[in-house]
Amino acid sequence: MTEETRRGGGAEDGRPPKVVIVGGGFAGFQAARSLAKRMGDEVDIVLVSPTNYFLYLPLLPEVAAGILEPRRISVALAAALPRCVRHAPGEVDELDLDGHTIGWLDPEGVHHEAHWDRLVIAAGSVHKVLPVPGVTEYAQGFRGVPEALYLRDHLIRQVELAAMCEDPEERAARLTVVVVGGGYTGTEVTAQGYLFTKELAASRGLEEVPRWVLVSRGEILAGLAGHLSRNADRVLRERGVDVRTHEEVDEATGDGVRLSSSGEHIPTRTLLWCVGVRPDPLIDDLGVQVEQGRMVVDTRLRVPDHPHVFACGDAAAVPDRARPGEYTAMTAQHAERQGRLAGRNVAASLGTGRSRTYKHRDLGFVVDLGGFDAAANPLGVRLTGFPAHVVARGYHLISMPGNRVRTAVDWFLDVALPRQTAQLGLVRSPAVPLDSASPEVPQHGLGFPHGPASTRESGPEAGEVQSSGTFPGRSGGSAEAASPEGSVEGSSPARGAR
Ligand SMILES: Cc1cc2nc3c(=O)[nH]c(=O)nc-3n(C[C@H](O)[C@H](O)[C@H](O)COP(=O)(O)OP(=O)(O)OC[C@H]3O[C@@H](n4cnc5c(N)ncnc54)[C@H](O)[C@@H]3O)c2cc1C
Repeated sequence: MTEETRRGGGAEDGRPPKVVIVGGGFAGFQAARSLAKRMGDEVDIVLVSPTNYFLYLPLLPEVAAGILEPRRISVALAAALPRCVRHAPGEVDELDLDGHTIGWLDPEGVHHEAHWDRLVIAAGSVHKVLPVPGVTEYAQGFRGVPEALYLRDHLIRQVELAAMCEDPEERAARLTVVVVGGGYTGTEVTAQGYLFTKELAASRGLEEVPRWVLVSRGEILAGLAGHLSRNADRVLRERGVDVRTHEEVDEATGDGVRLSSSGEHIPTRTLLWCVGVRPDPLIDDLGVQVEQGRMVVDTRLRVPDHPHVFACGDAAAVPDRARPGEYTAMTAQHAERQGRLAGRNVAASLGTGRSRTYKHRDLGFVVDLGGFDAAANPLGVRLTGFPAHVVARGYHLISMPGNRVRTAVDWFLDVALPRQTAQLGLVRSPAVPLDSASPEVPQHGLGFPHGPASTRESGPEAGEVQSSGTFPGRSGGSAEAASPEGSVEGSSPARGAR
């Protein structure tokens, strides 16, 4: 138990109250910013996150397609948040809502504990893995920078291997990509990836155009306005993408996938799993009311029976006042606005300002379809093609908390120059398991592997306990992944063999 925990912290001993925010994504980032704006140094804000950056996820498909460098969409927390917000690098693994304590494992495997006076849970979501045989072994997810970098290299590798392949069947399999899930992730990755591999194949002297198959249980972009869904479907089909709606994958093997309705076997070396997300497993064991895995909160984002605990973003089931009886969707727009409100309401609970309830007016949605194509409905105005593309890019630039000039320069360079197709191979397949609680972090330790952890420096906080020095174990991660043998492409019978 730390010194701070014993004393209880908070205002009664003259120290500023401590607010701990779990997660530095859309919701956590905005919560920290809004609270800091309202209270400044009157509050001690600690943001715990495994990465030291905010990840602008909507542009992740452009990283996989080689348009943007990964650092463009990774905005350093220290650069974008007020100085009074301290970032504690680590992954939260202990939460005691009654005892007001939190524990996290830092990137070098050292465990820290701290007391909090207010807690904001904004841990986001992870891949939803359905019980389909072979998927965990053979599919790749798409939720973090490691996965986008892996996919970019993988696609280049498949095209280059195909270019050297004499066997027409193997060449066709290497030039086939199957994407499962017709939400915004699957649709945008398909749109960008198709154009990327088409150009790549031509540049490697291949006459064949790579085949992309988008498998969707319902219509693509079914949860969004009909205008967006219809236009995305039309653009993809006109390009030559094989869109299979009302279809599912019922088995994945080392040489392809089988579709459930038609029973068709599609030979492929690339299976992308974009069937959606589920809330972060962190909240599974908290003993609070959950709805589809999300923490139920009231309209002020407070967790029932825990007046000092707030939750927001994908991890929270927030009543949607625009659709009574339902919860807000898992989107960046909701997460960002809920984060801002959480910051405001935490400040109010500490005596600064007044709390408010969550009410959201839909401002529309943008779907980037690669090239100069997009679909958008800003404030209900239906746009397609180039105007939608301009609106989509403008929207992203305004929404990003930093790196705007660099991002715009990358976009300009992409129009003026051919894409860079060097395959660095820095992220190996064991580092990006589909079934992962931390898709944003490569699944191997970052710390110096030798020597007792307890001899290392303490955490960001004097008095925080380093309670263990174990190598960080994450679900899906393995000791193998950290070993040179485990990281060799092709050593594993699963994706490594692809
Ligand atoms: C490829 C892709 C494209 C998308 N495109 C769009 C789009 O165009 N429009 C849109 O509205 N939405 C889009 N989304 C969805 C949107 O990104 C999410 O709804 C949004 O990120 C949710 O915000 P959040 O803050 O709840 O979670 P996140 O942004 O995921 O942030 C969660 C944070 O919590 C951290 N965390 C997780 N577990 C722990 C732990 N145990 N301890 C400490 N920290 C932890 C994570 O590292 C991360 O920093 C997209 C998602 C993806 C994957």
